[in-house]
Amino acid sequence: MRKGKDSGPRLRVDPIACEGHGLCIEAFPEMVGRDPWGYPVLPADAIPPHLMRHAQRAVAVCPVLALRLTKT
Ligand code: SF4
Repeated sequence: MRKGKDSGPRLRVDPIACEGHGLCIEAFPEMVGRDPWGYPVLPADAIPPHLMRHAQRAVAVCPVLALRLTKT
């Protein structure tokens, strides 16, 4: 069983659907980085509870539904 930063919700991106708008990066700069081409670099760690609203906002602003939160 995973514990600590290894457990909890994570952000995942569908690399085929993602168009590199960068809106998710602007919505959640605390944990979402930008690669040289403008695509999101997602954290490997689980999203801490105090940042979940930011993560949910990042998911909500994606215009092509490429970003999602997973349970583990
Ligand atoms: S908002 Fe959506 S399409 Fe834009 S960079 Fe983020 S995941 Fe990709």
